[in-house]
Amino acid sequence: MAIKVFDLECAQGHLFEGWFSSHDDYDTQQARGLLSCPMCGITQVSKRLSAPHVNVGHAPQVPSGQAGSPQPAQAARIQAAIMQQLRTLVRNTENVGDRFAVEARRIHEGEADERPIRGVATPAEREALAADGIAVVALPDIFDDDRLQ
Ligand SMILES: [Zn+2]
Repeated sequence: MAIKVFDLECAQGHLFEGWFSSHDDYDTQQARGLLSCPMCGITQVSKRLSAPHVNVGHAPQVPSGQAGSPQPAQAARIQAAIMQQLRTLVRNTENVGDRFAVEARRIHEGEADERPIRGVATPAEREALAADGIAVVALPDIFDDDRLQ
């Protein structure tokens, strides 16, 4: 998408940018009195004589609070919240390492104390647990203890 950006000036001398899909778009809006100065609101707006520049594939900034892709700061906050939850999970579970499948089955069958555990299991072990109705959650390898403590 190409967007034309014009430097506009109101009758009071305020300068601002206007974003248009085409020069015709600017002409139409100007002729209908749809252009108004964001600072004083008057509709006597004209294009300054500088050459317009054309931005390709560059959308106008979405004001905060409106729908749009998350800003980098937002994404970082979300990631931090997820890591915080995982750290809590790690602190509140017992690491049983590669005995995970065995322990999960013992807890399920009442042979071991009911408690939250974490550990490693092979895909085959996870499948066997699931087949017996034992729910386990698999986390990606990047969530190892070293990163979470
Ligand atoms: Zn103005």
